[in-house]
Amino acid sequence: QFLVTCIILFVLNYLIDLINILANITYEKIFRSMYLNIQNDLGKEILKLNSKTLDKNNSGVFIQRLNNDTIELSSFFANLNDYLGNILASIGVLSVYFVLNKTIFIFIVISFMIRFYIENKRNKIRIKNRKIIKSNRDKLTGFTSELVRGAQDIKMLNSEKSFIKELENRFTSLSKEEYKANITNYLLLLMRRLFTNTTELILLILILYAVEYKNLEVANAIVLFNFRGKLNMLSSSINYFQEMIKDLNLTCKRVFEIFDSEEFEKEAFGNKHLKKVNGNFEFKNVSFKYNKNLVLKDISFKIKENETVAFVGKSGSGKSTIFKLLTKMYDNFDGEILIDNNNIRELDKDTIRGNITIVSQNPYIFNMSIKDNLKLVKDNITQKEIKEACKMACLDKYIESLSNGYDTIVGEGGITLSGGEKQRLAIARAFIKKTQIILFDEATSSLDNETQEFIKQSINNLKKDYTILIIAHRLSTIQNADRILMIDNGKIIAQGTHKNLLKNCKEYKQLYEKEIINNK
Ligand code: ADP
Repeated sequence: QFLVTCIILFVLNYLIDLINILANITYEKIFRSMYLNIQNDLGKEILKLNSKTLDKNNSGVFIQRLNNDTIELSSFFANLNDYLGNILASIGVLSVYFVLNKTIFIFIVISFMIRFYIENKRNKIRIKNRKIIKSNRDKLTGFTSELVRGAQDIKMLNSEKSFIKELENRFTSLSKEEYKANITNYLLLLMRRLFTNTTELILLILILYAVEYKNLEVANAIVLFNFRGKLNMLSSSINYFQEMIKDLNLTCKRVFEIFDSEEFEKEAFGNKHLKKVNGNFEFKNVSFKYNKNLVLKDISFKIKENETVAFVGKSGSGKSTIFKLLTKMYDNFDGEILIDNNNIRELDKDTIRGNITIVSQNPYIFNMSIKDNLKLVKDNITQKEIKEACKMACLDKYIESLSNGYDTIVGEGGITLSGGEKQRLAIARAFIKKTQIILFDEATSSLDNETQEFIKQSINNLKKDYTILIIAHRLSTIQNADRILMIDNGKIIAQGTHKNLLKNCKEYKQLYEKEIINNK
């Protein structure tokens, strides 16, 4: 008999261990896949945000949610089973009180309700503070990520001291707030503890009273008093549970508001898909402002397919903005933009972005190999295509001179490359993508005259087969354009060929003459 009991006990113990391990493995699996899914979905959602939203939020808002809130959200389910288990186990204890003494049972239920109320209040205060702290942490993360990314510039400006001071200020003010919030929380926890102690004392008095006057047996009294530990476990489990639900609520809000809150506006596209885009454009009375000031003022122009058109004008006159509207980076403009006679608002994302390539002055180069940077725009690219594109962008010789060649890792933002090399890599990306419409926005501004001349030739070879729009400071690079539009203060003030404009546009003539003087 004894042996059988021992064996059963041992088997039971092993079974419990096994179940625990299985539960942990299952939890790990659920946690990992949840974390991955939430992070993936959130990443996708962030990439859908429109430029206005990206302009106004600091990067910390997204980094914190992507890295921290997603972990908090996924690990919530890990603790859930512990607390739920405790709560279920302790409910049995309550029924013992109910059976042995109704008065004590009622007292316990009432004290539970009061504790629940206190806890709710504490949680409200705690969550309010946590919300503020999290939003301040977002800001701090944004600042620290700028500090790291701008480290080279900070050093060159010799401004380490002021940046560290700013970091310290921001960190101290966050730390002060966290300190205040934590102290408030400790005080509220102390109040909860005092309440628990008082209820324990009253429970003891009630039990003694029941033994003395209500015929409660001493053995039962001891059971009831000893069970108070279990009751405490129940109430702290309920409290933890409440706390977790509140935290979960806050974390969910932070993560899911990126999915559906109006504050985080998404890009909106139509669903008309064009199989082929020929490259005709029209701006019809387009006006646009980023914030308050009009940047484009009732602009109208047409561009025919396979035309090469240049935009010139002072810095800040609105040239890049025209490109941003053409690629639908902003869509809150007045008027109409047509691509092959279709309203851009009706076209789907692939029709617009899949058929237009933009090469900007400061292209973002990713922290991966040169080859992988080029593969980003075309997955199944061959080594031959890569070499050809780099040759057209006048970058092949430089890459071949590197010890790792096309496999060289270029650092965050392409930090190991010069401004001109970054521009040439971006141009190579454009030559690989080779969409029907290519926009060059000061794309060769950091190149020397000789390289610029070479790339001009490469671009010239695309002429007549592609619609090419070029923004350039140096007029020498765009003299061959079919047409030049002169932009001033958000308006087109003249258009024509280089020769035409020299004759008829005083501003263009002045610009050209200044360039000649500068080059002498
Ligand atoms: P250009 O290309 O002719 O130098 P832009 O089109 O880049 O000029 O800029 C036109 C005006 O719009 C400038 O005054 C600039 O400060 C402003 N601007 C550009 N981008 C933004 C933005 N994201 N948010 C607010 N204002 C902007």
